[in-house]
Amino acid sequence: MPSGLIDAIFSAEAPYFFTGAGVSTLCGIPDFRGPNGLYRDPDAARMFEIELFRADPSFFYSKAESLVYGSGGIRPGPVHRALAALERAGHSRGVVTQNIDGLHERAGSSPVFAVHGSPAVHHCLGCGDAKTFDEIAAIRGGVPGAVPRCARCGGVYKPDITFFGEMLPEEAFNGAMALADAADLCVVLGSSLTVHPAAQIPLRTLRHGGRLAIVNRDETPYDGMAAFLEDDLKAFADGVMARLEQAG
Ligand SMILES: [Zn+2]
Repeated sequence: MPSGLIDAIFSAEAPYFFTGAGVSTLCGIPDFRGPNGLYRDPDAARMFEIELFRADPSFFYSKAESLVYGSGGIRPGPVHRALAALERAGHSRGVVTQNIDGLHERAGSSPVFAVHGSPAVHHCLGCGDAKTFDEIAAIRGGVPGAVPRCARCGGVYKPDITFFGEMLPEEAFNGAMALADAADLCVVLGSSLTVHPAAQIPLRTLRHGGRLAIVNRDETPYDGMAAFLEDDLKAFADGVMARLEQAG
């Protein structure tokens, strides 16, 4: 049980959390690169290509069903809930996530800096009209693979997920870096810290004199720099909830 780490979170002045795919696979969302990863399906690997989206958006909307739209079945998991609870108790300054499933937002965390974008908002490629995740779900009417179109101009809505060939969302990235620079503790959860430039965000906390904790099933390139190293995300989430209950 990672109680040393939980002590450190409770005593930190400005802790934040950096999350990756491991946090979402706990809720049944397929990983991209893992053994059962989505990218083992060569077709699925193309779903985030922006040129393909422009040419045929139905490809994305049919392939992304389980990953992004959840067919109604995907809910925030134990880590999402633990981070939202830590925040309510005053023990989190924010969440930086590499995930694009919007589950931290749905669990109630705020601020969430989604450095690879998020489906919380969709924009019409024709006129720029913005719609929320729920509005898009209503337009699609629960039809698998349905392409949501703009009532104003007939354009296709695209989620604000960063596709291959697109710029990273500047606002989220800048917000994440400001959080990292001001923090005294970065807790990495379920990320192998191999996708750049996002993986550099926890390093900024180290460079500014903060500490690094890593909870991940597999090794990361930064394990040697971590003050706390754990491998069980579920145990971490359970430990947090138990401690919050104790603290009442
Ligand atoms: Zn439009």
